[in-house]
Amino acid sequence: MIPPHIRARVTDLDPEALPAYLYDRAGLRAHAAAVRAALPERVEVHYAAKANPAPEILTALDGSVSGFEVSSGGELAHVLAVLPGARIAFGGPGKTETELIAALRAGVRRIHVESRAELHRLIALAARHAPDRDVDVLLRVDVPLGGELLRGAALTMGGDPSPFGLDPDEAEQCLHLLRGPDAGRVRVRGIHAHLASGLDADTQVAVAARIVDWTRTVADRHRIALSEVNVGGGMAVDYTDPTARFDWSRLGAGLADILAGRADLSLRIEPGRALTAYCGWYATEVLDLKRSHGAAFAVLRGGTHHLRTPAAKGHDQPFAVLPSPHPWPHPWPRPQTTAAEVTLVGQLCTPKDVFARRRPVARLAVGDRVVFAMAGAYAWNISHHDFLMHPHPTFHHV
Ligand SMILES: *Cc1c(COP(=O)(O)O)cnc(C)c1O
Repeated sequence: MIPPHIRARVTDLDPEALPAYLYDRAGLRAHAAAVRAALPERVEVHYAAKANPAPEILTALDGSVSGFEVSSGGELAHVLAVLPGARIAFGGPGKTETELIAALRAGVRRIHVESRAELHRLIALAARHAPDRDVDVLLRVDVPLGGELLRGAALTMGGDPSPFGLDPDEAEQCLHLLRGPDAGRVRVRGIHAHLASGLDADTQVAVAARIVDWTRTVADRHRIALSEVNVGGGMAVDYTDPTARFDWSRLGAGLADILAGRADLSLRIEPGRALTAYCGWYATEVLDLKRSHGAAFAVLRGGTHHLRTPAAKGHDQPFAVLPSPHPWPHPWPRPQTTAAEVTLVGQLCTPKDVFARRRPVARLAVGDRVVFAMAGAYAWNISHHDFLMHPHPTFHHV
């Protein structure tokens, strides 16, 4: 589960460098290139920066992805600072005027409109801040899927009441506005729909087909071209099996079928987690071992204030144990456990600070190193770093 070069690096780290995040940039590059190669040419890949916006991650992806999806003015400024020429799609609910103006000034390639009020605001701001340019938008729509397509999803953003995107009738009102004289140079290029995360390839394809069909029906009714369809991200990541990967070839084949015979259609996807989850590791060490009411606990240096993923998602973070690289320096015996199951926790004074519950371990001793896998997405950057004021981890790009 832990590649040899990551394992070696963890063993070499000075104890003072723990906890540490390690990112495998070469592995990420190879993975992103394989994803790109599995998809038809007419499918563009944008990386959803919110999954992990670290500059080293963005630059490693540059070249394999054709652009970046940002969801705030902060992400917009950050991605442009790291990759000045990047093609950017700006989405997300609750865009402020300041953010919209920044996007207009930067000339972002697409703005994903989330509400009718936002469209009105954008049209007014575009007339003032980008009067000489076309402003290309996609309408983010909660496209009706019918049936039970999203049943297996980890998170849903569509199909139920949500603050995301436009209901279909609202979207049609927006199209009306965009076709009229008041739209100025704001042009609708197509539809954006990010309806769920945690979908397997077959479900992704079925969802994409419905989004494309809905888009075509609405385009015909309004007699406009909606030639671009962004079917979102949300490709499944299985935290119970670190060796499993989303079936990109199957997605590619399914999207190729959707594109067949539609020369005017272009598709875009915007995955986050499934691109970067696998390239990150959070390495730390066992500080203490104890028993409580018959259960074994290992207290690790650090905690979910560094790696919030297991607390946020309510899963066990997969991990491997590496024996302590140092001889035990004390006259008393090294504490160790051979309990059948151990719960791995961090240093925070809250019962929620749990990495993994009742996991089988062969043997665990104080000073052993524990390496959590799948810590490359929604990990450090979603964590409440300063809660309890422990030191931050160190970062290593290997
Ligand atoms: C978060 C998000 C994504 C990425 O989702 P993943 O599950 O990380 O692939 C894509 N598009 C939008 C609009 C999002 O909010």
